[in-house]
Amino acid sequence: MSDCLFCKIAEGQIPAKIAYENDKVIAFYDITPQAPIHLLVIPRKHIPSARDLSPEDMQEILPSIFEAIQRLSEDLGFKEKGYRIVNNCGVDGGQSVDHLHFHVLGGRQLQWPPG
Ligand code: 5GP
Ligand code: ZN
Repeated sequence: MSDCLFCKIAEGQIPAKIAYENDKVIAFYDITPQAPIHLLVIPRKHIPSARDLSPEDMQEILPSIFEAIQRLSEDLGFKEKGYRIVNNCGVDGGQSVDHLHFHVLGGRQLQWPPG
């Protein structure tokens, strides 16, 4: 989608610190980190939110997202201590960028529940 911030990051039109990318997904560091490690993992395809995943997306894109997260946790060394994966969906979920993204937070003891 032409006016989407994360599409522009995926296309290299807006700079971001890229941690990993392949043909389906891209991972970059959040501009306002909430933990020592705070990554955003997104599909290259513009999907507005988790509500909008088609059955094909669920088969083709979600596995790539979770493979990327596992690979990042190994490469960046936070697999053993653990981490949190967050998806904010829609207004009540607190989603502010309407391109599906998974937050990956680690590097400190995280609290629960969220607000
Ligand atoms: P949401 O609130 O939609 O779940 O998460 C959106 C995330 O995108 C926020 O954590 C916010 O800090 C991050 N973000 C917003 N604009 C940019 C940007 O231009 N670059 C990067 N790297 N992250 C951004
Ligand atoms: Zn987009």
